[in-house]
Amino acid sequence: MPTPDTRPHVVIVGGGLAGTAVALRILKDVEQPIRLSIVESRPTLGLGIAYGTAHPEHLVNGLAKLFSLYDDEPDHLVRWLRAGAGVGGWQPPAGVAIEESMPPRQVYGAYVLASLTAALSRAGHRVEFRHLRARAVDVLAQHDTGQPRYRVVLDDGSQPLADALVLATGIFAKPLARQAFTVGAGVAPSPRYVGDIWQAGAWDGVARDAQIVYLGAGLSAVDSLIMAEKAGFKGRHLVLSRRGQGVRVREDVQPWPDFLRYAPDAVSLRDLLAQIRVQRREIRRQGASWQRLVPAIRAHVPQLWTLASPRDRQRFLGRLRAYWEAALHRSAAAPLAWQARVHEEGRHRHEAGRVQSIAAQADGRLAVAWLPRDGRPVQTLVADRVVNCLGFDFDWRQIDDPLVRQLVARGLAQPDPLGFGVQATRETHALRDAAGQPQPGLYAVGHALRGLIWESNAIGEQVPQAGTVGRAILQQLAPAAAATVLARAAAAAGATVRAQRAGQEAGTAPG
Ligand SMILES: Cc1cc2nc3c(=O)[nH]c(=O)nc-3n(C[C@H](O)[C@H](O)[C@H](O)COP(=O)(O)OP(=O)(O)OC[C@H]3O[C@@H](n4cnc5c(N)ncnc54)[C@H](O)[C@@H]3O)c2cc1C
Repeated sequence: MPTPDTRPHVVIVGGGLAGTAVALRILKDVEQPIRLSIVESRPTLGLGIAYGTAHPEHLVNGLAKLFSLYDDEPDHLVRWLRAGAGVGGWQPPAGVAIEESMPPRQVYGAYVLASLTAALSRAGHRVEFRHLRARAVDVLAQHDTGQPRYRVVLDDGSQPLADALVLATGIFAKPLARQAFTVGAGVAPSPRYVGDIWQAGAWDGVARDAQIVYLGAGLSAVDSLIMAEKAGFKGRHLVLSRRGQGVRVREDVQPWPDFLRYAPDAVSLRDLLAQIRVQRREIRRQGASWQRLVPAIRAHVPQLWTLASPRDRQRFLGRLRAYWEAALHRSAAAPLAWQARVHEEGRHRHEAGRVQSIAAQADGRLAVAWLPRDGRPVQTLVADRVVNCLGFDFDWRQIDDPLVRQLVARGLAQPDPLGFGVQATRETHALRDAAGQPQPGLYAVGHALRGLIWESNAIGEQVPQAGTVGRAILQQLAPAAAATVLARAAAAAGATVRAQRAGQEAGTAPG
């Protein structure tokens, strides 16, 4: 009879950046033999949507010195880039130091992959690693041992059993049916509607189009414009966004000195805004850039979000979120230069207003009705292609995904009441069950933690989270492993004792 495998099994669902970063943390620190599996249907780990792009014009949106994959080795990426390991020996633009550069996202993807390969090789035989090419569709908690274990049901029929399970499921597209405008029959299946800008074939035939309408003006719209131009588009780009705010260029500025002061038990949004206004005036007086304020505020966001009252959180979401996100999600200059060029050519327009409806016309083109912000009546744009850049869905009460539905239905995940991921503990990011209790061995990382710390979507937050979760798992497993070793030793000792007794009884006791 084969002996059962007593090595603990860590399963990570989602092999994008966040899931891979958890794996890296575990691979670096693990001392005992374990099995480590990443469930990910994509062929390559570590890339997700963000770092799988083939376009070198798509850059990461922050400086290389901030994007290490290890929270205890902040210069890891910079060293890797210095060693010339980037895609095709990528070098920063002339005059820009590597640590101050924003590399292409595909170079960053190569860095994630190279780091995983190196970590696996260093871990050697201690870790049996598997990439399970499937999607997880359900999870069943098993309480047959002291510590709960989790049976993960995959869509290929297999059901790995996890001693520790990490949900690193990333971002989910928001379906058209849940947008705040009406969508006519025939729009969603039309090849003229691009719901996923990264899908293979999304830009096929765009060179023949005369007009593209983009819904939303964020970083995805910037990426889309570049992809359309590179695919040969020569027509007009029309961008519709609620406030008419475009993406700003990220300036290379020093953070403003830390200024926010608040009591740990009485944070008020009104007071915080007053403090920010004072600093804003001072920045203007000095002729400095407002962008210096962003890192100074961002450093406090997890703490402020945790301390904020439900009312202040609602106020932030209703009135300030859009402005904060526009301030935060800036871009390197190079991608925005594409937009500037088509603008100069008279082929780019950005309008402020609300989309009311999208309908398919008899000729197959799509009519977008929108209400301008400036008081004009509803206008209609006829588009050869409508591109959805409206962002993602974070609401676990509504996300249309089998795994998410099952986790919530089984009470293994409790959705955030404001619609931002799941409830989890701050200390280890263990998921809270339907009764609010932390569940040992079940963790989340990345976008699902938005409700916990608000900013949870980028490398800067996900790498420390991966550190927290990876370390919690190693701590959780260590006693189990020690127990396993002890159990083995006890079993071996028991067998020796039994053999000794048997030998004594047979008169063959040793020496
Ligand atoms: C276009 C784009 C550009 C970005 N650029 C930057 C940037 O420059 N800097 C920055 O800091 N952040 C950037 N971000 C934010 C980005 O979301 C994070 O940096 C990071 O890539 C997110 O990683 P993730 O693993 O959480 O999510 P994802 O990359 O979405 O990966 C999640 C993975 O989980 C898998 N998955 C989901 N459900 C299941 C399931 N049930 N079973 C199996 N697998 C599953 C998916 O297939 C996916 O591969 C960008 C995001 C986008 C969309």
